[in-house]
Amino acid sequence: MVTKSEAEFLQRGMRVAVSFGKTKMYTALVFDIHQNPPELYEAKEIIQILDEKPIVTEIQLQNWQWIASYYMCSLGDVYRAALPSAFLLESETIVLKNEAFQNESELNDEEFLIFEALQHQSQLTIHQVSDILGKKNVLPVINELIHKSAVSVKEEIYEQYKPKMVKYVRLNSVYNSDTDLQQLLEQLNRAKKQREAVLGYFQLAVDKKPIKAKELETKIEVSAAVIKTLVDKNVFEFYQIQTDRINFKGETNQLKELNEFQETALSEIKSQFQEKDVVLLHGITSSGKTEVYTKLIEDNLASGKQILFLLPEIALTTQIITRLQNYFGNQISVFHSKYSMNERVEVWNNLLEQKLKAQIILGARSSVFLPFSNLGLIIVDEEHETSYKQFEPSPRYHARDTAVVLAHQHKAKILLGSATPSLESYFNTQNGKYGLVELNRRFGNVQMPKIELIDIKEKHRKKRMNGHFSDRLLTMMQDALDEKEQIILFQNRRGFSPVLECTTCGVAPQCPNCDVSLTYHKYRSELKCHYCNYQRAKPNSCSACGSNTLDTKGFGTEQIELELKELFPNYNIGRMDLDTTRGKHGYQKIIGAFEAREIDILVGTQMLSKGLDFNNVSLVGILNADNMLNFPDFRAHERCYDMLVQVSGRAGRAKKQGNVAIQTFNPYHQILQQVSTTNYAEMYKEQLQERWQYHYPPYYRLIKITLKHKDYTKVDSGINWLAKALQNVFHENVLGPTAPVVSRVRNQYIKNLTIKIPPKQNLAETKRQLERIKTTFQSVKEFRPIRFIVDVDAQ
Ligand code: ADP
Ligand code: ZN
Ligand code: ZN
Repeated sequence: MVTKSEAEFLQRGMRVAVSFGKTKMYTALVFDIHQNPPELYEAKEIIQILDEKPIVTEIQLQNWQWIASYYMCSLGDVYRAALPSAFLLESETIVLKNEAFQNESELNDEEFLIFEALQHQSQLTIHQVSDILGKKNVLPVINELIHKSAVSVKEEIYEQYKPKMVKYVRLNSVYNSDTDLQQLLEQLNRAKKQREAVLGYFQLAVDKKPIKAKELETKIEVSAAVIKTLVDKNVFEFYQIQTDRINFKGETNQLKELNEFQETALSEIKSQFQEKDVVLLHGITSSGKTEVYTKLIEDNLASGKQILFLLPEIALTTQIITRLQNYFGNQISVFHSKYSMNERVEVWNNLLEQKLKAQIILGARSSVFLPFSNLGLIIVDEEHETSYKQFEPSPRYHARDTAVVLAHQHKAKILLGSATPSLESYFNTQNGKYGLVELNRRFGNVQMPKIELIDIKEKHRKKRMNGHFSDRLLTMMQDALDEKEQIILFQNRRGFSPVLECTTCGVAPQCPNCDVSLTYHKYRSELKCHYCNYQRAKPNSCSACGSNTLDTKGFGTEQIELELKELFPNYNIGRMDLDTTRGKHGYQKIIGAFEAREIDILVGTQMLSKGLDFNNVSLVGILNADNMLNFPDFRAHERCYDMLVQVSGRAGRAKKQGNVAIQTFNPYHQILQQVSTTNYAEMYKEQLQERWQYHYPPYYRLIKITLKHKDYTKVDSGINWLAKALQNVFHENVLGPTAPVVSRVRNQYIKNLTIKIPPKQNLAETKRQLERIKTTFQSVKEFRPIRFIVDVDAQ
């Protein structure tokens, strides 16, 4: 509720503080100023208007509205995901447990959920409470908990964003004339150090650049104390300039000349852009797609428009960041949700103010939320990557698809690039929605790697296996090492986590919170759950039968590394997986060491397939391709193709043709045959037929519904109720109920249903029907505590 003058001042995209309950304050964003009295809620007073002008642009708001309606979530979900939390200045309510409380039986279901969560976690924010209860209005529940003395609340107000300030020194303006200066120096005759400091200052001042206090200290070797004395004497004064954290140091280089194939691709892209807003660049690995992107970026820069370059996972793509920074230097800002709050706020503000340094944004999926005002071009690199889809929490948006909509809203062009395009995108080129440009030559005319399928069933039979290595792979490795070339070995993580198993009774230690065996980490002699992070020391005997015949089953990268150390004792072995890449610079360290050739053989998980460019790798080995093929998912074959082609692409990039060895029990599997000839077209055709036959994307759309609750019977009866309700409306297009492979995580039981939406069925109407069913479901008292998750275009 606003007054007339407030209404006149307010604009869409400004923040306001709104009261919430009696004592709480929340930050809200103005979406609409209207005069329709609300029917379902009571209008709130605005406590304060927080902005002078909008911090969110009109197009952003439209884009967020699209996300909310397409992905079936609230605008609030989008707004919370989009704004750096520093913008959400508010009195954060923190809920604490009352240690003295004992009457748990007094609590109802929801109250108990919160109380229980506080046993594991000393405090919860309002937001976390909403997540747990799966609803927004949680204040009544918290109030009741306070009323029953089960919890208390803590208030905390904080302003989170602090720009980084750097201290500069300048001469007091009274010493502007030469005579004054002369006098000063004479005065300082007896204070030798101070005189040196002033002279040193003039030495640095020749550059006509602001002089940092630190610079004076290091370059002129003046102590901080001397500078301080001079400030106290009013000779010097300190001042501050707000500096931005994300600064590129170093010089930029000229763009590379494109070769004739890249040149053709570039001009085809440009001519397709005349007619189409979206173009897919299908360029084989090492064809030089990045160089083509840079030329497009350069063109666009000249027009003064903003550019968004989307990458799947920033941590894995430092190489590409460096490459682009080499060309565009300070015009690039990097944005990532794992960056510090301050860094993110700076990028936001720079973009809003249309600063030059934020003309190119390089970012992971969440950068689609940024306040672009003048976007001309979006590039989505590795567009097939599944990490573009956010899985948890809501909004469960796909950054590539959101970017296509965003480009449209800005009347900008968007280029999707990949060596292994998603079936969805390629399909869109075939039906004419997107343009298609192919780049089929590797740069420097290096041939595609020679791919050899090694039948390990045969090798096992003939006893030609050494641990997990066939004799053939070992020979190829030795040959490469003899040539002083490097090797990448790839071990897919799925299903290969090593577990501890009792050879007497067959029992494997399970996670107490999840339905999954614990993973064995040999190095720390520890058992760990990858779903909830539960961990414990490795037991010495079986908890079921007491015998001490525990053995490891399955093999992970750690196991491979150990075998390698025995097989190749004179070479350096490196490992890249979740364990070895913790910390902000974990990846860079390993990638750097490999680039510097300090590592001869690098073993890793799928992280290794992501666009890395090493010029001395001549052999890529895939230790076992089969579990990727057998994964129960309609995209398993497509993913397997992508992954194998992408890792293979790391071989032989710079000089000569590389080798790839794929060990498998099924060398005649059609997907492996297609990988071995890099036959994307055939893979596409075959997979598409299956998708059509079994009613999957890109023909049918999918909406996946997940129910979660700690009580199994609740979830079970909920999902059965829901299945019936959905079947009444959508008939045979409801799939399930099913339980996921890991059917209990963090003590929550999980069940799924999937709605398939045929090509001609109205999407918006389908979603409305689903909304209605959801509302009815949640009005059933028994089902209310169940978490209800909707995932549109589930991956
Ligand atoms: P892709 O992204 O298609 O896998 P890259 O863009 O990484 O391929 O290019 C592969 C390698 O070839 C890189 O090392 C890159 O520097 C080099 N390269 C590509 N195009 C050119 C060019 N026009 N001039 C010089 N080097 C190039
Ligand atoms: Zn046992
Ligand atoms: Zn667990």
